[in-house]
Amino acid sequence: MSIQTIGVVGAGSMGSGIANLAALNGFHVILRDIEDRFLDGALSRMEKFMSKSVERGKMTEEQKQETLARIQTTTNLEEMKDADIVIEAVLEDMALKKEVFSLLDEITRADVILATNTSSMSITEIASATKRPDRVAGMHFFNPAQLMKLVEVVRGFETSAETVESLKALSTRLKKEVVEVKKDSPGFIVNRVMIPQFIEAIRLLEEGVATAEDIDKAVKFGLNYPMGPFELQDFAGIDIGYYVMEYFQKEFNDSRFSPPLLIKQMMRAGRHGKKTGAGFYDYNK
Ligand code: NAD
Repeated sequence: MSIQTIGVVGAGSMGSGIANLAALNGFHVILRDIEDRFLDGALSRMEKFMSKSVERGKMTEEQKQETLARIQTTTNLEEMKDADIVIEAVLEDMALKKEVFSLLDEITRADVILATNTSSMSITEIASATKRPDRVAGMHFFNPAQLMKLVEVVRGFETSAETVESLKALSTRLKKEVVEVKKDSPGFIVNRVMIPQFIEAIRLLEEGVATAEDIDKAVKFGLNYPMGPFELQDFAGIDIGYYVMEYFQKEFNDSRFSPPLLIKQMMRAGRHGKKTGAGFYDYNK
């Protein structure tokens, strides 16, 4: 079926970015959150994002208004009945995601794909809340969704090849680079590669091999990464990486992913990176 209307459930950082991205690429969008204030916040973030593009001459004021006009906001989940696909971006909470998927399963047409933007949760478990697990898959965007080029399309245990192909085609229409994650495995590809790098960088710092600044500098100039592991953790929130390490350790039952003592101490001290104004760069200072 041809996709013209994209439903997005959850209008936080990711939902608003995905809704904006879809509208920028000509899709009609139905964006749902639980309260109007979250929807207003989402619209004003999109407005701000596109105003910068207008200032830089990348789009006209008229195109910005046309894009906003393609986004219909609602607090009523029932409006998803008109969506040709739904992308869920509510909080990272399994019980909530299952509740949303079970309702979407009742509301949407039977042929509609229900995708989740979860960063870490099992696609298979989310799909189990529906009667269409073959049409449930992960569609993992990165923040900010309008700018970050990658989408990981993740196959749950029951996801059909047709669903995967439809999501890959949609990602291409959204002008993204797409990769297929063939198995529902924790962290998919990007986080699975990134977390051991964080762990190794923290161990180097703990062992006194180099300072956080020099480890970042080495990674940036030696591996050509735009950000070093400490800059990135301080920026994204040290707590987020920490919880993923704990989750991997539990899911894989593998001590390779154990959070090093230093990050545990940072958590205990409430040093969560930029959010608290204290991160790895302050270590031992
Ligand atoms: P967020 O906290 O910014 O937004 C979540 C939104 O969901 C809130 O506005 C909340 O009001 C809304 N919500 C809660 N229950 C709802 C419901 N029943 N129906 C509709 N909306 C509801 O969270 P976020 O950072 O946008 O993350 C959303 C999802 O995307 C999570 O699964 C997260 O793991 C994933 N993700 C986040 C990032 C990131 O960098 N932030 C990157 C990739 C994936």
